[in-house]
Amino acid sequence: MLVVQKYGGTSVGSIERIDAIADRIIKCKNENNKMVVVVSAMSGETNRLLEYGHHFSEHPDKRELDALLSSGERVTSSLLAIALNAKNHKAVSFSGGLAGIKTSNHHNNAKIEEVDTALINGRLEENNIVIIAGFQGVSKEGNITTLGRGGSDLSAVAIAGALKADICEIYTDVDGVYTTDPRIEPKAKKIDTICYDEMLELASLGAKVLQSRSVEMAKKFSVNLCTRNSFNDNIGTMIIKERKDMEHPIVSGIALDKSQARVSMIGVKDKPGIIAELFTILGDKNINVDMIVQTVGHDGKANVDFTVLNGELASTKEALKKYHEEFDNIEYDEDIAKVSVVGIGMKSHTGVASNGFTALSDENINILMVSTSEIKISIIVDEKYAELAVRSLHSVYELDK
Ligand code: ASP
Ligand code: MG
Repeated sequence: MLVVQKYGGTSVGSIERIDAIADRIIKCKNENNKMVVVVSAMSGETNRLLEYGHHFSEHPDKRELDALLSSGERVTSSLLAIALNAKNHKAVSFSGGLAGIKTSNHHNNAKIEEVDTALINGRLEENNIVIIAGFQGVSKEGNITTLGRGGSDLSAVAIAGALKADICEIYTDVDGVYTTDPRIEPKAKKIDTICYDEMLELASLGAKVLQSRSVEMAKKFSVNLCTRNSFNDNIGTMIIKERKDMEHPIVSGIALDKSQARVSMIGVKDKPGIIAELFTILGDKNINVDMIVQTVGHDGKANVDFTVLNGELASTKEALKKYHEEFDNIEYDEDIAKVSVVGIGMKSHTGVASNGFTALSDENINILMVSTSEIKISIIVDEKYAELAVRSLHSVYELDK
């Protein structure tokens, strides 16, 4: 088999950890596998480098910042190769760019455009364990680029896709994807298998096990993806195209996102084009609007509520300032949380939403906004009830069973 493994920051967080990882890799190699290993920087390292980079300037040159940040992953990749060599195994390390990862020139958040696998394949043929620094590539312009925070997951999936690897294992310090955050609900269960689409919803909603761009890429190239714990031998979570078994639960998980704020425009002039105008202004300022709810207008006026990231609230206020005559009043609320129920089974079952709403009302939790898609129900509640909402939804959908 051709196995791609990726080790996150805590998995390579010390010399002892790198030593332990080397043993794990050798064990897998000895089971007659070809191995490509993608590594993150040692935990805390990327943040440390970021801080250094901002010492001389508030806005350091993005190209140089990428050159700096990418070094963290190169340190671990070469250390791991040295460790494997010392244990009498052939191993070679490469930066992302040398390994053939070609990206756009969009610094700090580059897109992978192509993976040239010639060099990797050649080294695999020579029986090497190939170690690749994650989180980075090279642009046509000849610059080192990085792929955004958490980007080593994306490196691993892209490489696995390009090599048509049999499996891509993402190693972290947890056993896998859980039905919800176990720190909020200790009864949360590890999920054995989950579909790409469900994982995408959970990843983008804050179940931080996998970077969401990497799940999108896995879906696009049908990469067999799994997450595992590098600190034990437990079986992790498989992320696959679709589950065909009858046992598939209706709801797979509950996600919590506290990073949003609610904006309520009250008494918006109910005339064609006004909503388009307001949201175009926000779009032009690169403000990402998530949920939008407009209530039916009366007296020629309507209410429009939407959510933005907390960090973008100030620029939202600023952007809407000029448009105050278009509505009677505007309110902002940072103390909200988005709780989302995710499950592919919702496509074919009714009553899923009403069960959830009943569970929340039983706890006297007020629902501020709701939005739904085929496989997701997102509910905005007061932030102080967020954890309680997660627990009551987790229980009503029997995710603890
Ligand atoms: N070291 C990078 C980060 O912390 C990339 C990664 O670990 O995935 O974001
Ligand atoms: Mg990560």
